[in-house]
Amino acid sequence: MRIVSLAGGIGGARFLRGLLTAAPSSEITVIGNTGDDISLYGLRVCPDLDTVMYTLGGGINEEQGWGRQKESHVVKEELAAYGVEPQWFGLGDRDFATHIVRTQMLDAGYPLSAVTEALCARWEPGVRLIPMSDDRTETHVVISDEQGRRAVHFQEWWVRLRASVPAEQIILVGADEAKPAPGVLQAIADADLVILPPSNPVVSIGTILQIKGIREALDAKTVVGVSPIIGGAPVRGMADACLTAIGVETTAQAVLDLYGSPLIDGWLVAEEDAGVGLDGVSVEARPLIMHDVESAAAIARAALDLATRIAARRGAATQDGDAR
Ligand code: GDP
Ligand code: CA
Repeated sequence: MRIVSLAGGIGGARFLRGLLTAAPSSEITVIGNTGDDISLYGLRVCPDLDTVMYTLGGGINEEQGWGRQKESHVVKEELAAYGVEPQWFGLGDRDFATHIVRTQMLDAGYPLSAVTEALCARWEPGVRLIPMSDDRTETHVVISDEQGRRAVHFQEWWVRLRASVPAEQIILVGADEAKPAPGVLQAIADADLVILPPSNPVVSIGTILQIKGIREALDAKTVVGVSPIIGGAPVRGMADACLTAIGVETTAQAVLDLYGSPLIDGWLVAEEDAGVGLDGVSVEARPLIMHDVESAAAIARAALDLATRIAARRGAATQDGDAR
């Protein structure tokens, strides 16, 4: 079976680990968010791609959910001793090596998709990880504070300000010109099923869907999503601040409406959200908290099972049409 999944960072990566357990013999292609990417100290940092790569490759700091395990912070301390900014973004020594290799390869002219493939050769994540685009895009957030109304990089709003200042607008700079990376549209075309993990619906999945051609390609596919919102609140993190910025309520229903039909064909919600629905979408209620790999695998199994049933129903409907 060929499965395509879109993914942000922590939520996406933890779900993907479950998906690999649930469907070990499947060919899984992950289209990763690069809107969070940032240049720091001359290095290109791709937080979401790295979180997926480290999580699936066994190198992630489990408690934190991002960065490397057994990490030290000598380089960060030395940079701080020179007064180099920013000091609010935590990069560990082992992690620095990844960004050095990436930057070296990008400077040599390799596209990000080729660089990601090279980095994954070491980590063997068990999926094919492709950035959504080789073109540079960056999520910026418009805020008003003592310095006036201005746009800051997503990471500054998310990490430095902890989303405490309301986002007036969230903009993917470069979205109009960005093309899907090589292999993205082909992987979608070849996919039997598409699964949207519980990643941030605005700045992770929503960002990937803004790349020209991706949403259109997905419309034709059987797509099942896992709600990142349970009982009117994010499970963890600050997704509510992102949803509020685009005028969407923090509910499983509102996120389903945001994705909409024909994109979404099946939607998994938590048991307390069992009343959620939308025309043309099969909604099922399941336990949706990822406590560990096994609970993530159970959610992935439920998503695959729902997608398989929807795809079979569609196949039967098409054959009926052919027979007539
Ligand atoms: P990312 O978008 O993949 O980078 O991941 P985040 O860690 O920022 O989380 C994105 C969304 O996933 C948030 O809205 C969380 O509420 C949601 N989320 C995190 N953990 C879980 C979980 O165990 N179950 C469900 N259903 N959603 C989760
Ligand atoms: Ca669809």
